Amino acid sequence: MARKFFVGGNWKCNGTTEEVKKIVSTLNAGQVPSQDVVEVVVSPPFVFLPYVKDSLRPDFHVAAQNCWVKKGGAFTGEVSAEMLVNLSIPWVIIGHSERRQLLKESNEFVADKVAYALAQGLKVIACIGETLEQRESGSTMEVVAAQTKAIAEKVSDWTNVVLAYEPVWAIGTGKVATPAQAQEVHSELRKWLQANISAEVAASTRIIYGGSVAGANCKELAAQPDIDGFLVGGASLKPEFIDIIKSAE
Ligand code: PGA
Repeated sequence: MARKFFVGGNWKCNGTTEEVKKIVSTLNAGQVPSQDVVEVVVSPPFVFLPYVKDSLRPDFHVAAQNCWVKKGGAFTGEVSAEMLVNLSIPWVIIGHSERRQLLKESNEFVADKVAYALAQGLKVIACIGETLEQRESGSTMEVVAAQTKAIAEKVSDWTNVVLAYEPVWAIGTGKVATPAQAQEVHSELRKWLQANISAEVAASTRIIYGGSVAGANCKELAAQPDIDGFLVGGASLKPEFIDIIKSAE
């Protein structure tokens, strides 16, 4: 089954109204392959979501960077999946390593959020990845399999899930995984999906790579057979994001 290339831009906690306007106008002017070839989703902070959604070109879509784990109500500071649906925000990033580490989000909590967001009709970019210490101790596959298993225990329909493999040691460090390192984990993850879910889910689920993706390294990574796109942080705030989108071709 063909997996459409997917490029997500994770703006994290960045941007002023002026900067956001500038990024949107750069994106709107970019020459990129058609929607048949690449799916593009950008993820601004919550406060900028309505503006970005309304001013962005129609072939690019938006994602929230998080949402609450259950129905909204008395949860000060949280944003519910229902609110995102109400605003016609189609995508949400769940389980980013910064939240797992800084806000102590566990595999189970992340899995509950993925399941709840999907049940409300959102599409989910679910993030997994090992720390440097885990890689150096040889437990990369064990860690990413446990993170994926927690999600698989709560999610039966994977149609609206994109799995983002983001080694923590590569995020924001300029230390990108080599194409071979990334391909190895992506291929193992696909085997895990095949063995533990189904051949169909393994063949159709997009597994994207994140961690210091840039204009200069994206082509080689994109050429790997099991890398179906990228989740881009720092470079998604810059004009080179357009070059990364072009690596879909
Ligand atoms: P980076 O971030 O591209 O700045 O390394 C990637 C991410 O955290 O999604």
